[in-house]
Amino acid sequence: MLRLENAWKQFASGPTAVTALADASLDLSRGDFISITGPSGSGKSTLVTLLGLLDRPDQGRLTFMDQDVSRYSAGRLAALRRAHIGFVFQAFHLIQDMTVLENVMLGLEGLVRGRADRSARAGAVLERLGLSDRAGHLPSQLSGGQQQRAAIARAMAKEPDLLICDEPTGNLDGESGERVVELILALNKAGAAVALVTHDPRLAEMAERRFHIADGRLTAPVEIDNL
Ligand code: ADP
Ligand code: MG
Repeated sequence: MLRLENAWKQFASGPTAVTALADASLDLSRGDFISITGPSGSGKSTLVTLLGLLDRPDQGRLTFMDQDVSRYSAGRLAALRRAHIGFVFQAFHLIQDMTVLENVMLGLEGLVRGRADRSARAGAVLERLGLSDRAGHLPSQLSGGQQQRAAIARAMAKEPDLLICDEPTGNLDGESGERVVELILALNKAGAAVALVTHDPRLAEMAERRFHIADGRLTAPVEIDNL
C-alpha cells in the first residue's frame, strides 16, 4: 500500500539545518500494524507526516497505492488523503468554531453522500468513543482527553485504508485509552493498515512490527509473530 524509500527531511533552524529524517525506508501493506517509538525530537512526527501524505520528502521516494507521490502537488496529495487516510494529530487540529459532531462529519465530506448519513455515521463513532453527550459542544468546551477522542473519531469515521496515530493516547486516562485501543484494533482487523506513534511500551508491543527512531534514523523493525 505504501512504500517510503531512502527519505530525507531537513528543516531550516536559523543559519543551520536540522535533519529530522535521515535515509528512512519503510513498507506498509494492507492490514499491517506498525508502531514507532523514539525520544522527543527524534523525528517521529516528521516520519508519520510523510506516511500520511501531509508533506513530501526532500529526497527519496514515496509510493502510495502504486502511485509515485513523491512530487505530487498539495492538492493531489489532499485528494488521496481524503479518500484513504485517517490521521490523528498529536495536537488534535480540531476546527474550533465547529461542534464535535460537525468536526467528525467534515472528515466524511466527499466520501459519504447526504448530510443525514454523515451525521448518523459520525454520531455512531462518537458513541463508541463515549462522546455522545459532547457532540454538540465546541472543542474549546472539552477537556484535553475529550478533544483527543474527538480527533480520533474524525480520523476513524471514514474507515480509512491507512490510519496514522501520532501519540493518540497521550491525553487519555485509562478507560478512554482502552476504548481508543479497541477501536484501532477493530479497524486493523477490518483490513486497515495502522501506523502508531507512541511513548507507551505496552501499546507499542501490540504492533506486529516495531520501529524505533533516534536522531532521524529509523532502525530495522523488530518482527513479532503474533497469531
Ligand atoms: P518527534 O515527533 O519525534 O518529537 P519531530 O518529527 O516533531 O520529532 O521533530 C524532529 C526534529 O525536526 C526536531 O529537531 C524538530 O525541532 C525539527 N522540526 C520538526 N518540524 C519542524 C518544522 N516545521 N520546522 C523546523 N524544525 C522542525
Ligand atoms: Mg511528535
